[in-house]
Order: sequence, then C-alpha cells, then structure tokens
Amino acid sequence: MSYSAVRGEQDEATDYDVIVAGGGPVGLTAALVLGRAGRRVLVVESEPEPATQWRASTFHPPTLELAESLGLIDDMLAQGLVAPTYQLLDRTGDLIAEFDFSTLSDATRYPYRLQLEQYKYMRILLGRLADEETVRVSFAHRVTGHRTTGPHSVDVQIAGPEGAYTVSGGCLVGADGARSTVRQNLGVEFEGMTYEHRYLLLGIDSPLEEYFPGISFVNYVSDPTEHLMLLRIPDCWRVMFEVTDGPPDEEVVTDEFIKGRLKVLLNQHPMPRVLSRQVYRVHQRVARTFRHGPVLLIGDAAHVNSPIGGLGLNSGIHDACTLGRALTDPQPSRALDSWAEQRRTVALSEIQRITHRNTQDLSLSEGEARDTRMEQLREISRDPRRSREWMLEASMITSARHQNLVSGRPFRTGDQSPTTA
Ligand SMILES: Cc1cc2nc3c(=O)[nH]c(=O)nc-3n(C[C@H](O)[C@H](O)[C@H](O)COP(=O)(O)OP(=O)(O)OC[C@H]3O[C@@H](n4cnc5c(N)ncnc54)[C@H](O)[C@@H]3O)c2cc1C
Repeated sequence: MSYSAVRGEQDEATDYDVIVAGGGPVGLTAALVLGRAGRRVLVVESEPEPATQWRASTFHPPTLELAESLGLIDDMLAQGLVAPTYQLLDRTGDLIAEFDFSTLSDATRYPYRLQLEQYKYMRILLGRLADEETVRVSFAHRVTGHRTTGPHSVDVQIAGPEGAYTVSGGCLVGADGARSTVRQNLGVEFEGMTYEHRYLLLGIDSPLEEYFPGISFVNYVSDPTEHLMLLRIPDCWRVMFEVTDGPPDEEVVTDEFIKGRLKVLLNQHPMPRVLSRQVYRVHQRVARTFRHGPVLLIGDAAHVNSPIGGLGLNSGIHDACTLGRALTDPQPSRALDSWAEQRRTVALSEIQRITHRNTQDLSLSEGEARDTRMEQLREISRDPRRSREWMLEASMITSARHQNLVSGRPFRTGDQSPTTA
C-alpha cells in the first residue's frame, strides 16, 4: 500500500490498536515501529501531501542507531551529508571552538551528525510504511476530537473529504505538532516561554565553503546583536539569522530585508539566489503530562525548543521509538506511565536545558560575561576529556544511554554529563 493509494479516501476499518494523529516525521516513525511489531495502526494526517518544508536537518548518533534498527540508515546515509565536526565562530569569522565527533567513535557506530532534510527522512519512512500491511496512512484527514471510553480504548473523531466519522482505537497518539489538537482537547497545559527573538531561515545557493574556508557543515555564530547558524544540507546552504524586535514577519521575508542581512554576512561576495524563506518563532515548552489514560503525546505536540543544537526532531523520534516499546510491553499500563515520566524528564532536564544554554551562549551581550563564556568553551574544546563529555551530551548519547534507548557501543567508565559547562 502506498500513501498515495489512501490519500483522501475514507477508511473502511473502524477499529485499530493505535491511532496516530499527525503524519509528520515523529508520527510516521511511531507508525513504523508499531507496524513492525504487528500492531494495526491508522495515521491521520490533515495535509493532502507529505510536508516538503525545510525544517530540522540534523540527525544525531543515537537517532542514527535507531534508524539502523528500523532499516532506514542506508537510505539516510546515501542521501545525507556527514558532518564530522561542528564549529562555534564569532561574527568576524574567528574560530572560538571546534568539536570533533570522532572522539566518540568508541561510544557510537555513527560518530558524526548526519545532515539530511526532514522531508527526505519522511519520504524514506513513507517508502518503508508502504510495505507494512497493518499500517494505513490517511492524508487529507484531520483529527477533530476524541473521547476516552476506557483505560485502553478511545473513540477518535475525524473529518475527511467525505465528511466526519469516528474510529476506535486502543490508544490515540498525538503527534500533531506544536499546536496539537489532541493536547488541546485534553486540556493539557503547554508550559514554558517564547523567546523574544525570531529566526529568519533562508536557503541560499552560495558556496559558503569557498567564501569561508575551513568552516564545517554545522556552524554556530555567536554575536551579541545578531547570532546565526550556517548549515550545509544536501540541497543547499541554510542560513538562520536572529531577528530581534522591530519589523513584522511580512517585512522580514521581503527581498530588501533579506538582502540587507545577507550583505553583512557575504560582504563582497555575490548576492545568492534565495531558494526558500521562512520566519520561525522559537519556544521552550513542555506539556504538563505526556499521558492521559490511553492518549499519549509525542514530538512537538509534547515539547518544543530552540533549534540551537538540533535536538527537537531527534528527541521526537526518541519519543516515538520508546513509545513503541512501551506499547508492546507485556504490562503496557505500567510501561506507559514510566515512559511518560521519563520522556518528560528528558524534555525538561536535557533538551530544554541544553538548547536554552546554547541559545544564550550565542546571544550573550558584549562584555566580560561573554568573554569568559567564550574562553570557557574554547578551553572545553581543547581539553580532550571535557570535550568528550561535552560531545557525549551535545550528540544526545548521554541521555540515550541513561534510558537504554540504543545499544551502541559500551560506555567507557568515567563518561558522565558535563558538570563543568
Ligand atoms: C521553520 C522550522 C524550522 C525548524 N528547524 C529546526 C532545526 O533546524 N532543528 C531542529 O531540531 N528542529 C527544527 N524544527 C523543529 C522540527 O521541525 C520539529 O521538531 C519536527 O517537525 C517535529 O515533528 P513532529 O512530527 O512532532 O511535528 P510536525 O512536523 O509539526 O508534524 C505534525 C503533523 O501533524 C499534522 N497535523 C496537525 N494537526 C493535525 C490534526 N488535527 N489531525 C491530523 N494531522 C494533524 C500536521 O499537518 C503535520 O504534518 C523546525 C521547525 C520549524 C517550524
């Protein structure tokens, strides 16, 4: 069954083990894990086609190990770019710190970040789901509501091109993104904050590796007035500029505004073709609970965070894979309680903490605090032990190992979360 075969069609079956609201990267990952475990799964996706926007584009080592276990890794490696290092630069282009993933080669089979567009990951997933006989993906259908009917049963209301209907499931998984209908229907608070700054995200066709010799495929540029990221993805270079208060979103995406920002970055180099433009508002929010009886929240529906560090999508994929295990546990109720608790703790104490720290590091104001922090990061990158600890955390290996998320290679004794950073 291919996804196009069910696009826009109403479902004939009305009873599933699991109904997944949202056919984004996280919902589709959950569907694959559950389909492989023989569960009857319905994925309900409101859009008529899979999303093709550039959003997340980094896959960390534990996620690559999970992708290996799902048989996705060969396609991902074939389509992605390996980033063996990442850099922290200052606005003059001077290197503050470089972190080399090869120091993790005894801790993971994938000691690098893989740069691959989120939409390509989804395409690979959809290809695999086409072979899963127990999984159905319904595009152009929207989950509009649900009613819990028992500890292991839920009725889900769906609106499709032919009208509204209800299906029943053993559970409902809300993987329907940051504005999750499922989370809102539950009345679960999405606690946290919204940053004052936004990001202007551009895809450009400049050869930045030629303009800035020695830069990595992943570069964070610290600047008190306008921090930015330069990311090489297979399709092009992506630039993510901080935009502080002032111009409304409509103005930020105009040619004039974009040219002004690019001019400062590129200096004398020719103006590129702008392949995509988006304004992106950034939050740190975590749902008060990830489980409400037979209704579970994963991915952006459960937590959103700053993109500095590339942890958002990765942690959503980790939610999906661990949820798959909990749902197929012989004692699912107990397993789901502990899953929900664990994943929320990771979202708060790992993902939010790390991404907020990274965001602050990039945007520190000129002065002593900034100089001290940049020096600290420089020192960490030069000290093999501290750099390794930093990298284990930045690449999510520390948190993945604490939860037995991946088998990987054995941890060396002495590996632990950095306390110095
Ligand atoms: C502009 C942008 C740039 C980003 N860049 C980065 C980055 O650089 N690094 C990073 O780590 N993360 C980044 N992110 C975050 C990352 O894209 C998300 O973490 C990731 O998409 C989460 O996947 P998801 O499947 O949980 O949610 P989504 O990708 O949001 O998928 C949710 C799906 O649910 C569908 N849906 C919504 N409501 C319903 C409903 N009621 N019924 C049925 N379907 C529904 C939507 O159509 C969508 O397809 C970015 C996000 C944005 C918006």
